[in-house]
Amino acid sequence: MKSRARVVVIGGGIAGCSTLYHLTQEGWSDVVLIERNELTSGTTWHSAAQVTNFGLNQTMVGLKTHSINLYKELSDDPDYPINYHHGDGGIRLANTEEQMQGYRHFASMARGMDVHFEIIDAEECLRRHPLISTDNLLGGLWDPLDGDIDPYQLCQSLIRWARKAGAEVYTDTPVIALKQYENGDWNVHTEKGDIDCDIVVNACGYRVNEVGQMMGVHHPVACFYEQNCKTWGMDGIDPSFVNALCPDDIDRVTDVLEGAFARMPVLRKTGIRSIVNGPITYTIDGAPLVGPIPGKRNAYCIIGLRAGLGEGGGHGWLLAQQIVHGEACYDTWCIDPRRFTAHANTELTSLKAIEDYQNEFRFHFPHEHRPAGRPAKTTSLTAVLAAENAEFAVVNGWERVEYIKPSAEFHPSLSFHFDETFDIVADEVKNVRDNVGLCEVNGFNRFEITGPDAYDFLDRMFCKPVNRKPGRVGLGYLLNDSGMVKSEATIANIPASDRGESRIWYGSAAASEFHDMDWLTQHINYNEKVQIKSLTNDQTILLLAGPKSRDVLSACSREDWSKESFPWLSVRECFIGFSAATVMSVSFSGELAYEIHVPNESLYAAYLSLRKAGEAHGMKLFGLRAVESMRMEKGFLSWKADLLTEFDPFETGLDRFVTLDKDNFIGKSALEKRLKKGPRQKLVTLSIDCSYAPAHRGASLMVDSKVVGTITSGEWGHRLNINLAYAFVDSEKAEVGNKMMLNLLGEMIPVKVIDSGPYDSSYSRILA
Ligand SMILES: Cc1cc2nc3c(=O)[nH]c(=O)nc-3n(C[C@H](O)[C@H](O)[C@H](O)COP(=O)(O)OP(=O)(O)OC[C@H]3O[C@@H](n4cnc5c(N)ncnc54)[C@H](O)[C@@H]3O)c2cc1C
Repeated sequence: MKSRARVVVIGGGIAGCSTLYHLTQEGWSDVVLIERNELTSGTTWHSAAQVTNFGLNQTMVGLKTHSINLYKELSDDPDYPINYHHGDGGIRLANTEEQMQGYRHFASMARGMDVHFEIIDAEECLRRHPLISTDNLLGGLWDPLDGDIDPYQLCQSLIRWARKAGAEVYTDTPVIALKQYENGDWNVHTEKGDIDCDIVVNACGYRVNEVGQMMGVHHPVACFYEQNCKTWGMDGIDPSFVNALCPDDIDRVTDVLEGAFARMPVLRKTGIRSIVNGPITYTIDGAPLVGPIPGKRNAYCIIGLRAGLGEGGGHGWLLAQQIVHGEACYDTWCIDPRRFTAHANTELTSLKAIEDYQNEFRFHFPHEHRPAGRPAKTTSLTAVLAAENAEFAVVNGWERVEYIKPSAEFHPSLSFHFDETFDIVADEVKNVRDNVGLCEVNGFNRFEITGPDAYDFLDRMFCKPVNRKPGRVGLGYLLNDSGMVKSEATIANIPASDRGESRIWYGSAAASEFHDMDWLTQHINYNEKVQIKSLTNDQTILLLAGPKSRDVLSACSREDWSKESFPWLSVRECFIGFSAATVMSVSFSGELAYEIHVPNESLYAAYLSLRKAGEAHGMKLFGLRAVESMRMEKGFLSWKADLLTEFDPFETGLDRFVTLDKDNFIGKSALEKRLKKGPRQKLVTLSIDCSYAPAHRGASLMVDSKVVGTITSGEWGHRLNINLAYAFVDSEKAEVGNKMMLNLLGEMIPVKVIDSGPYDSSYSRILA
């Protein structure tokens, strides 16, 4: 066995084999795969191995397309042909109109990835699959490339090509310990000897947490099976469970079988010949964890694969790109291991994973937040706001107010159209526009950055010089090494006071907590004195927005809040009533607004002070849905909706946040090279000629049957009364006034490019 390699991949199922193969394709040949038994002896050997092209977002569709193309290429290899039934076609069935709406949206989204699904009615479903019953069937989505593959042959073929390129594979070699050296390299200790390596990859299937434990991490992945799901292996897995199945337990799947028999009556006659009952791994949202392991250097994982055969080719491809180039060709947030944070413990993971498995073929509707594992993260206000009839959405585990319901019994329907909440959100926006609104924003990501080198460090991280003036706040963008948009953050310079030394607060999206912490800490140079402390779980924002917000603030805090004393983009420590608070004059709504950051222990007290002060000014609660509508009218962007690693800051319309003649910043040279080529696509604002549905993320924009762009966000603008969307479109289509068609739930709807931020473009309301 080698004593040193660049990468060691642990686990020889589809995840590990695909990663090894793709590392060699990216040009890294000094790579090794270590398997405790034989290749495919975990879950892979008994997989049904259906390979589909259907995905709920463009990244998933794109990676599945890669799998299909790769498997086709491998199956055509005359020296080692593999059994791949390619392109048999498959139907996803729907028995409600709302499911049909969803399929129409997913078909529109897939067009942007050059994948052509067909929406067919029940009669056509029967024509294409004569054995089904059309009882209670409305139609379905036809995936022409649906097929299946021999999982063992597939892995052997991937390994064959990887070996040809120089990779080595050691089977019957259990990894029993992992140790990280100070320089970040790893020692992989196996029963047959040790290998040192630069990078280690955990691809261990249902043994993921055995190997996780060796590096001191717990991954939010659980194993179980079927509708009446049982978790499996929660207290450890028998070491001899190899090439094995669980005992038959057909009673637990009776209801599923009854449904299948009713849909395909011929199954009643054929009977059941054999049962395959094996464990499968799931994560909190059903998508796998593919990418850097949070809090670790030089460590990656490709785990929690629920459809590892269909997706594994693509996941290995995207992971190898991340390892070799730092980032993949698609934005991989939907599979990023850092999208779950501290709440993702074993118990919560099991609850969410079971719920997801039970809903395997029921996609999430817009604004659908399923009940398992809730509430995970709350504040002292959650119950208070629930008593005010707040409806909650989940953001990184936090319960955030979506809107205030007219009654406790109010339950809007799940739909891709505008629903019964439309007028409620309109009223909340109206009150913010005319009076003042109050909204709790919990879990907002907040790091305190201190140390003599803090500003120099941040200057290297942001693509524009950081405003260092005490008492001021600035918005900035972080790029990756390829010059693409990595993150967005506000920097607040809090002056020294009796509460502490002067310090910097770095604020970013709630979901970015682990992502941003890793990115920042990994870029502190060894000789830099910089400390980063997370305050994310210590403080909560009370957002005050509207023309009367200054009056409310003045009524409960003794400071001078005039615009002369506290202009836009200021930060100051103060008291709200008797609660210590830090206030920033920033606005995401386009109205005069203040973010009031309050330590969690005095949150309720501050809330009561604000509510009392607001009584005389018509203050009402508002929620996330109103914020979403207002931020789109104002031209503000949302991380991982509109801010993606697939686009650079100029393509994203962030020109004013880039200073190219600044000394240096991460991504600068790559960005300069990109600039010479010119933008491929640009982010634009669109008005949509439709009053019954918003544009949904991923939907395709067309000109003469050609896809020219993709929606990133869509919402009704209640102050301007227009249906708004953001989209990346081919740069020649980005001119204001350009017209195109939107494939909105299967209908072709006219849209027009309009000026970004059409609401109060002079900023007179924010600056009032
Ligand atoms: C009944 C059933 C039907 C399925 N049907 C489909 C389907 O139709 N389509 C589809 O796409 N997916 C399907 N799946 C899911 C698919 O099989 C899995 O997603 C996939 O096999 C997971 O592959 P993996 O490489 O992540 O894990 P595994 O195949 O379990 O591989 C992990 C490997 O790591 C090794 N390992 C573990 N610990 C160590 C260690 N300490 N040292 C060295 N090696 C170690 C193991 O021995 C194992 O070989 C199905 C699953 C089941 C159970």
